[in-house]
Amino acid sequence: MILFKKVTNLHKWLDAQQQKDHLPGFVPTMGALHAGHISLIEMSKKENTVTVCSIFVNPTQFNDPKDFEKYPHTIEKDIYLLEHADCDILFHPSAHEIYPAGLIPKRHYDLGSLETVLEGEFRPGHFQGVCMVVDRLLEIVKPGRLYLGQKDYQQCMVIAKLIELIGKKDLIKIVICPTLREPDGLAMSSRNLRLRKDERLAVVAIYKSLCLVKETWQIKSIAQLKQQTRSMLEEAGFKIDYIEIANAANLTLLNEWDENQKMVMLVAAFMNEVRLIDNMLLN
Ligand code: AMP
Repeated sequence: MILFKKVTNLHKWLDAQQQKDHLPGFVPTMGALHAGHISLIEMSKKENTVTVCSIFVNPTQFNDPKDFEKYPHTIEKDIYLLEHADCDILFHPSAHEIYPAGLIPKRHYDLGSLETVLEGEFRPGHFQGVCMVVDRLLEIVKPGRLYLGQKDYQQCMVIAKLIELIGKKDLIKIVICPTLREPDGLAMSSRNLRLRKDERLAVVAIYKSLCLVKETWQIKSIAQLKQQTRSMLEEAGFKIDYIEIANAANLTLLNEWDENQKMVMLVAAFMNEVRLIDNMLLN
């Protein structure tokens, strides 16, 4: 694996590859890597001659400065995991490399209702920050395929919209990879590192409640199941941001079941300081 910190050096290397007609597969991350991230690398390795992983904790997407400060950094372990996964390139830039003109937004991305529902409602500005960094990273890496995790369901939709907005829909294929889970079902997340032992045991309630809804949605109403989920999560010690069921294709929130469309349940909740999200397709 080759580690690049400077855009110019990465460009020189990528340009040489692209002359051989190899557009890279790209896995953008914020580091503190786990098996979920590595599954994206593995998927990219299967489909591309060159796989680029980026590690950059993007300040512009944190609506809560405390969350940014406390975001875990485990670069040595990350390098070890990436080497082990046979990743070709790690791009690990400084904030100055990504934002040479400072952290000022270049433009506003018109994300429509994706910006105001679910994560958009509870993390104002978050998706503008995501778009800002992904736009810049795509400009730098110029991938043919982009690997994203279903774990961040709404983010996948936002990035698909971004790619449309920046006119790269025909150039970049998005590959959405399934959520990897711990043996007890908890979705793997870098933020799990911040959970104390007792909190770690309690947070499995999210997965359990999602599974229960998936098993019983045909026999109960949406209101009943949302209330049941709320009770389960509050009992486990969560403070809930949202529990919603939505059209999986556009994230329109649903009050009534509609079997003719794909439906997804999405949850965001705090276990004390740590905010966790998860989702599950229901049909
Ligand atoms: P992050 O570093 O957390 O921003 O995540 C980088 C990429 O890895 C995003 O596309 C995430 O959706 C994806 N990812 C994070 N956790 C998981 C997981 N448990 N399973 C699969 N992909 C994941």
